[in-house]
Amino acid sequence: MIQVKNVTAGYGMKPVVENISFDMEAGEILGVIGPNGSGKSTLLKCMYGALKPDDGEIIVDNKRLGAYTQKNIAKKIAVLPQQTDVAFSYTVRQVVELGRYPHQKGWFSFQQKQDEHIVDKALQETGVLSFSNHPMDSLSGGEKQRVLLARALAQEPDILLLDEPTNHLDISYQLNLLDTLKDWSKTKQLTVIAVLHDLNMAAMYSHRVLLLEDGRQKALDKPSVVMEKNRLEHVYQAHLERKEHPSVPSPLITLEPSSDTLERKRENVLDSLSIEKTPGHVCLMSPFHWKTFSSAVVGAGFGWHRYFVNRHVDKDYACDQPKQEYTAYLKKIGLDIDDTAAMMTAARLDDGAFVRMAGDNHDVFVYATAGTSNAVDVSKSYEYYSMNHTAGTINLWIFVAHRLSEAAYAQIMMTATEAKTKALMDYRIYDPKTKTLATGTSTDSVLVAALSEGEEIEYGGTITPVGKTIGKAVYDAVSRTLNHYLKRRSGNEI
Ligand code: ADP
Ligand code: MG
Repeated sequence: MIQVKNVTAGYGMKPVVENISFDMEAGEILGVIGPNGSGKSTLLKCMYGALKPDDGEIIVDNKRLGAYTQKNIAKKIAVLPQQTDVAFSYTVRQVVELGRYPHQKGWFSFQQKQDEHIVDKALQETGVLSFSNHPMDSLSGGEKQRVLLARALAQEPDILLLDEPTNHLDISYQLNLLDTLKDWSKTKQLTVIAVLHDLNMAAMYSHRVLLLEDGRQKALDKPSVVMEKNRLEHVYQAHLERKEHPSVPSPLITLEPSSDTLERKRENVLDSLSIEKTPGHVCLMSPFHWKTFSSAVVGAGFGWHRYFVNRHVDKDYACDQPKQEYTAYLKKIGLDIDDTAAMMTAARLDDGAFVRMAGDNHDVFVYATAGTSNAVDVSKSYEYYSMNHTAGTINLWIFVAHRLSEAAYAQIMMTATEAKTKALMDYRIYDPKTKTLATGTSTDSVLVAALSEGEEIEYGGTITPVGKTIGKAVYDAVSRTLNHYLKRRSGNEI
């Protein structure tokens, strides 16, 4: 379809793009990314014949680009340049009709029915039909952009080149435009080459991404391969993080503020935590946000929290919408929901245990409450249980005064679970239905909170330094709270 072969081009002595090569198939979308001045627009100009390469060549349908007449290029390639000057006294329809020019036989040929139909369709597909008789200069930046896209579409090209097409568009039109391009690439086999400013848009919509740095081809591959954290940080000279997009399989790039602007934390961050105990709840408060991962009722998953609540509810607590009910409770006690991770339990809060433990360079703080009337042997629950909610619950909070990788969060969840189970074994907690040793309760919850800055701890498994500390601290905290709970029960208290 289109081949770029060792293209070098510029505006004078020094080349602005150097030795660029790639092939594209029909229906492919290529995103071109790179910092300002890296040569993206220059490369695009070469591809539509506005700039002649100093070296190398561009082949369109097995023929050199230079061998086409302007009109014949325009039948194959349509362009949405970065800056466009249109005669603004034209109406929208007139501008779009210009797209048909390359297909007309002569200057004075009559507008064919066929042309009219194509123009109508282009107006419709870009959502500008309703103002097709308005003059261009009465439109907003985003509307103008869509009209120019309609003009490019009316050209019925095989290849569409776009230079930062989403620049003047708000997010819904950005998505709309890129969805349209994706759709056309599938249904019309349109080949799209788009310079995109937004790395995430490029990642979501491109089949492949070309990354330019100082006019050189730094990488060309699938977005997940090209958009590697270190590579992007180096090319863009910026701090960023790469995560995975929550709903589509593509990388998600987030920008990081310079560390000078971040709030510095005190040395002994665990000392800055304060605890409020009321008959209804225990609330742990922090002057800054912790990055938490949890199964809490409110604030589950990854989040940023500085209030942590463990609320006591009656053992008959039944509510269709516990999250809504709990949110109302938190509001009532004056907490900002967005800042809060909150669990509930039928266990007695005064049986709870706090354990603080120093590891080398990674202090941890653990809080646990336990009630085991609904203890379960996980290996037997398949045979015995239905989804009846019962009172009980072991709730665990683990604060690590260090930054953690996502892998470490997951491993700490495992380490803590194993430590909890070991405590249940040692205290001979039985599943009341199966009469076998219990591994947990049916409603257990866990929260891991860690810092957002400093060096990262990569692993949190049972034999890592932080894993060892957490294993011991969780075991001790669960043992202590079980001890309180069992003592009170044997004293015939409930
Ligand atoms: P990008 O689109 O990646 O921001 P460009 O291709 O527009 O980069 O520009 C790459 C380099 O070429 C820049 O240093 C720019 O100043 C220079 N350049 C761009 N257009 C011209 C021009 N018409 N004449 C001279 N230099 C230019
Ligand atoms: Mg540019």
